Amino acid sequence: MTEAVRYEREGSVAVITVANPPVNALGLAVRQGLWQAIDRFAEDDAEIALIVGEGRLFIGGADISEFGKPPVEPYLPDVCTHIERSTKPVVAAVHGPALGGGCEVALGAHYRLAIKGAQFGFPEVKLGLIPGAGGSQRMPRLTGVGPALEMMPAGGSVTADEALEIGLVDRVAEGDAREAGLAYARELLESGAPVRAVGTLPRPADDAAAFDAARALWQKKSRGEVAPLRAIDAIEAATKMDLDEGVREERRIFLELMETPQRAGLIHAFFNDRKVAKLPEIEGIAPRNMAHVGVIGGGTMGAGIATACLLSGLSVTLIERDAAAADKARGTITANLDAAVKRGKLPADRRDATLSQLSTVTDYAELSDCDLAIEAVFEDMAVKHEVFARLDAVMKPGAILATNTSYLDVNEIAAATRRPSDVIGLHFFSPAHVMKLLEVVVADATAADVTATAFALAKRLGKIAVRAGVCDGFIGNRMLATYRGAADRMILDGASPWEIDAAIKAFGLPMGPFEMSDLAGLDIGFMTRKRKAATRDPRDVVPTWADAMYHEGWLGQKTGQGYYVHEGRKATPNEAVKPLIEAARGDRPQRTFTPEEIQRVYMAAMVNEAAKVLGEEIARRPLDVDVTLLYGYGFPRWRGGPMQWADTVGLPALLTDINEWSKADPYFWQPAPLLEQLVTEGRCFADLNKEAAQ
Ligand code: NAD
Repeated sequence: MTEAVRYEREGSVAVITVANPPVNALGLAVRQGLWQAIDRFAEDDAEIALIVGEGRLFIGGADISEFGKPPVEPYLPDVCTHIERSTKPVVAAVHGPALGGGCEVALGAHYRLAIKGAQFGFPEVKLGLIPGAGGSQRMPRLTGVGPALEMMPAGGSVTADEALEIGLVDRVAEGDAREAGLAYARELLESGAPVRAVGTLPRPADDAAAFDAARALWQKKSRGEVAPLRAIDAIEAATKMDLDEGVREERRIFLELMETPQRAGLIHAFFNDRKVAKLPEIEGIAPRNMAHVGVIGGGTMGAGIATACLLSGLSVTLIERDAAAADKARGTITANLDAAVKRGKLPADRRDATLSQLSTVTDYAELSDCDLAIEAVFEDMAVKHEVFARLDAVMKPGAILATNTSYLDVNEIAAATRRPSDVIGLHFFSPAHVMKLLEVVVADATAADVTATAFALAKRLGKIAVRAGVCDGFIGNRMLATYRGAADRMILDGASPWEIDAAIKAFGLPMGPFEMSDLAGLDIGFMTRKRKAATRDPRDVVPTWADAMYHEGWLGQKTGQGYYVHEGRKATPNEAVKPLIEAARGDRPQRTFTPEEIQRVYMAAMVNEAAKVLGEEIARRPLDVDVTLLYGYGFPRWRGGPMQWADTVGLPALLTDINEWSKADPYFWQPAPLLEQLVTEGRCFADLNKEAAQ
């Protein structure tokens, strides 16, 4: 027996305990230990075996430290089959989350007891895979194909009670897994319960309509991601093959997916979620205290930020310009909290107490005991200056003064105070209580513990924080301005907004740039262009048709028309935009674009700007860019991020394209020095991530 698995006797019950802290992951020692324990049980005179996990859960999934390494025997599918083939009954008593491999071990047992609070599920698709140890074959034999089709393509899970309802477990109990498991094992023994191998149960009934419906749903929902569709194929195999053949088919699909770039992209994203907060500048630095947050401005962003803070248990004082605006903000926040109750994000019995932590006021003096103030007033430097001067006057020493500005210079905002080291940018995304990304904009004078507090706040709010430096638009919006600019140029060269949107969606983004304009409102782009007009380079392209649309009052969804005509949820191309585009094109030569060309131009612009952002140290590591685009801009997770995409297609090829395009448009297509350097040195963005981690 390995140290990770213990074998003991409790009378006629053999207790097999998995003890591999922190999460009893299925590393080699656990797989070997389970195998040997089942062998020992066979030789022993124990009459029934009980598998339990020590600590806070039964068995976690795969051991992430083994990711990317060649698998070592015994493989998990064989371990599960070995358990199942025991000639004496085996019971699994499951507490805590049993996801992926943990669930598969439980399915290898003959009986399953779920302790309240347990969770059963298959998250493999989130890493580009499908269950790999018989889960897709055994679960449908217990539950029928319906629940498996619901769970596996989505990477979902069920509670103990739900698992009982669908037949995934045999019983639910309260209390300690070992004690409840022993009682259940003894009961089974007394009743003469037979060995009941899931794999020998009849094949689940084929249900062609259910498979068709699931495929149609996931074709649409997965936006190019293959694993959910392959999970459906594996479940279908269970309806046609005996267990051994089905497990081999599942394994075949699993190994095929293992080799795909999608799998690599999802693993990259998975590790980046953890690496993004590992910054030398805040390592070991204690964050400041945070209990009471002030929010200045209760519009779109302020109300969302206040909601996010309340939902994480912070108390909030929100300042508006007058009582009517303060009341309006309270109304929005109340509606947000009610929606959170509906979505199960806030327990109904916590709703009133949560709302009672909100005060909406008009007097800045009320912010005097706040630990942190987040400003979300109009995007105007004069207004920001005035607000920060007032904050400086009333906030207690040591309080943090943050701005949610999208583009403005945080150093300049900090200069309005006598405490620039306490000032930082906290760039939330709309809707702020839903979107996961928080760009933490570190200004020249920002103190390290202020940055550390921003990262701690993000964690508390359930968000992912990315460190950014000061520039126009920081990481995300600066890149957006550039790839959006590439889309506008393609329009002038002959592509239509609808072709571009379709191509970008086919790439895997939820929306194309022009749908995005309609959603955000065309007034936003117009105001940004106006703000930048004074400093615009004369060689820059201005989307004059978009200005014309603004003047027509076609502001997008909110006015019913923009690039699309919006009727309810239906959006059809707005033909009336065509003449405006024609007028902007003038006698410029026109050409056609394939969807692949559109994607290539759009992505090259994104990557080139990202390389500039990295070269200027606005983003410290390529992974910071990837995380920003994934969580703030809907970049498909299965592609890992734009930097990962660039490495996959190859930097030399991208640079060749950019150099070619720069012949016709040298202003827009200036290759990033970092991109040129990486190509010359034969390196890629992943190398920069590795160097930053050393
Ligand atoms: P908004 O117009 O919806 O809200 C601004 C609110 O601030 C208004 O309710 C206004 O009454 C209030 N306000 C103005 N001056 C004030 C003052 N002196 N004291 C108190 N309240 C005052 O704007 P928004 O979309 O919420 O944007 C706010 C900030 O957030 C801007 O800096 C914007 O760039 C940034 N931002 C916006 C988005 C977005 O998608 N809307 C995303 C990220 C960041």
